[in-house]
Amino acid sequence: MKEVHVFNAGPCLLPRQAIEAASDALKDFKGTGVSLLSISHRTKEWDETMDECRSLWKELLHIPEGYETVFLGGGASLQFLLVAMNYLEKKAAYLDTGVWASKALKEAKGLGDAYAIASSSDRNYTYVPKGFSIPSDIDYLHVTTNNTIYGTELKTDIESPVPLIADMSSDILSRPVNVSRYALIYGGAQKNAGPAGVSFAIIRKDSLGKVSRHIPTMLDYRVHLDKLSMFNTPPVFSIFVMSETLKWLKSSGGVEAIHEKNVRKADTLYAEIDRNPLFRGTACKEDRSLMNVCFVLSDGYESLQDDFLTFAKERGMIGLKGHRLVGGFRASLYNACTQEDVEALVACMREFEKLRG
Ligand SMILES: *Cc1c(COP(=O)(O)O)cnc(C)c1O
Repeated sequence: MKEVHVFNAGPCLLPRQAIEAASDALKDFKGTGVSLLSISHRTKEWDETMDECRSLWKELLHIPEGYETVFLGGGASLQFLLVAMNYLEKKAAYLDTGVWASKALKEAKGLGDAYAIASSSDRNYTYVPKGFSIPSDIDYLHVTTNNTIYGTELKTDIESPVPLIADMSSDILSRPVNVSRYALIYGGAQKNAGPAGVSFAIIRKDSLGKVSRHIPTMLDYRVHLDKLSMFNTPPVFSIFVMSETLKWLKSSGGVEAIHEKNVRKADTLYAEIDRNPLFRGTACKEDRSLMNVCFVLSDGYESLQDDFLTFAKERGMIGLKGHRLVGGFRASLYNACTQEDVEALVACMREFEKLRG
């Protein structure tokens, strides 16, 4: 196979081990003689996968008693609506740190008085607002911990006097999280936890049931909790691959160990961006994301944009084009991306500097 280095922002690179387990299971799921795509989800073999997946989440993130993890379809985007449906009675505050945060807020606006408590839109979301005070008369505060498009990250678990809800789509399982600070943590799996087609929600059970509206069955977190994510047919393939991805993470030392590796990867790339006169980072240094590294060409070199992308592509670098709202480049260093991948990118940037600098 062609040697490549995958920096896609999502769906993400997945560990080889998970891909291989999935391709085996496609042919024969756990020795049943039936493909994973045709098994009944009402069997002992499937229940085992589901249980294993739930308990791996619990173990890897040290999820405390009183919480349960559910797996859903519809992506993080559908959960924007579920959050408001299940938690918004009158008033909710959202930290506006980018497009995903704004989309979450938009869904809530239809259901109550939802507003942005602080925003970094004044500088194209290149930083995370700080120093805002959290009112006590709101139903919840919503944050987006990693801003995939802009490469900023809220690295602390806020201490909040009201229920704290977080979209952790793109940094879940990349660093330790104090789950007990949150009423709900949710996200799409395809940025760091698994393939597309499934999303997760880690729910503090006693945080539900506080709103008076009628909640449609499929939008009610309590239904999915009660039915252990099996109210309707779950996305079996996606859940299987997620479960294998979590197994790989566990065998690689868990979240604490991968966090150390992620810090090293990000440090390596940011150091090169800061050193190389051709490039500059776009996110404010103290808020730089470990997962999505955004950079552009320095002043005077902007015309080299397409040249660098072609140059990098010829050297096997995949997925470096920045999001259209930021431009330039974005290297996503999710868990399965290795230090070697990052070193290859750095070597490529140095080579480009020699040629064009
Ligand atoms: C990608 C992304 C989403 C949207 O996820 P879908 O599963 O595609 O709906 C939401 N929030 C963040 C932070 C993301 O990176």
